[in-house]
Amino acid sequence: MKEKTMSKRNILPRLKPLRLLLVSLVFVGVWVGFCCVVPSSMRQVKAPRRGRAYNDRVAIVYSKHYQMSLGGLEKLHSFDIRKYARIYLKLNTEGLLRPEDVFVPEAVSKNEILLVHTPEFLESLKDSPTVARYLEAPFAATVPNALVDAAILNAFRYSTGGTVLAGRLALKHGIAINIGGGYHHAKPIAGEGFCIYADMPIAIRVLQKEKLIGRAMVIDLDVHQGNGTAVCFATDDSVFTFSMHQGNIYPIPKAVSDLDIELKTGTNDEEFLSILDKNLGSAIDRADPDIVFLQAGCDTLKGDPLANLNMSLEGIVKRDAMVIDECVKRRIPIVMVLGGGYSKRAWKVQYASIARTLKKYGITANRHPHKRRELTGKEKLYTK
Ligand SMILES: [Zn+2]
Repeated sequence: MKEKTMSKRNILPRLKPLRLLLVSLVFVGVWVGFCCVVPSSMRQVKAPRRGRAYNDRVAIVYSKHYQMSLGGLEKLHSFDIRKYARIYLKLNTEGLLRPEDVFVPEAVSKNEILLVHTPEFLESLKDSPTVARYLEAPFAATVPNALVDAAILNAFRYSTGGTVLAGRLALKHGIAINIGGGYHHAKPIAGEGFCIYADMPIAIRVLQKEKLIGRAMVIDLDVHQGNGTAVCFATDDSVFTFSMHQGNIYPIPKAVSDLDIELKTGTNDEEFLSILDKNLGSAIDRADPDIVFLQAGCDTLKGDPLANLNMSLEGIVKRDAMVIDECVKRRIPIVMVLGGGYSKRAWKVQYASIARTLKKYGITANRHPHKRRELTGKEKLYTK
């Protein structure tokens, strides 16, 4: 009896902090429930499913799972992870895209990842400081690895699955746009420059393995060189890599693509489009591809904090249009992925580019498939 009383006395002081913790957890739960309720427009693009290609020509791929969330810590990173959701919701509220028409991907599988990456690389992802280094996100180094996997790597797996699905859809419909992807710095043995899985190489290897394609081409117009993509295909003549990028910024030293064009600081619309125009046709001739992957990074925009080109929104839309129209003219299936873009206006540029493609090829008689509407309060909160 005495022993029992003693043990009760010992336990009671410990119960107070435990109770406090429980109360705090309940408060946090209520707060999270109140603030982070997922809007219905996002819930509709959560479970993997088939969508509908507009005019049987343009397929849009997107998933709610692309959104990373690490209790707000993700906002410390220069990559605006909410840009994917902003673009999807803008397409939706402008009346250009119905949630039920979106193709929602599965996450890329381990076997698919291993078509490009090494088992050692997959092992390295079990170490949070290593993942933090790949992502240049020091805040992730101290986060338990299970949480890093669930909150960050999982989003990359879905977005990479989206690029694989976009590859299949492009072969069927002609044009497929993944509102994500473009992780062109990822190499077989390591992630780098905010990139984990090499989504375009993985998609190309999946399509080649299934004998859906023989040859492929990657046209990388992000302001940074597609060094990871170049390394993935360095010894492979079946894939042609073409990268146009600013010469004097990351990555230094550069990898060797099949065609590299370095741009000088301050390159403007006219200069960029003229260089692309001079090289695009002959590069596609050399590549002779069964499919083209366009990495349409918009960090070429004037004022991007990680680069120094001088392009306008209109110039970048014309740039993407030049590549997509050329592929359509030649009847080559094309996949567009988003890549980089770090200014506050970056998502607006990519929205404008996707909207232009949808209007030109997907929406007959330029009619909107549904009514315009305003963002709801929950949607504003979700993309804040
Ligand atoms: Zn970039």
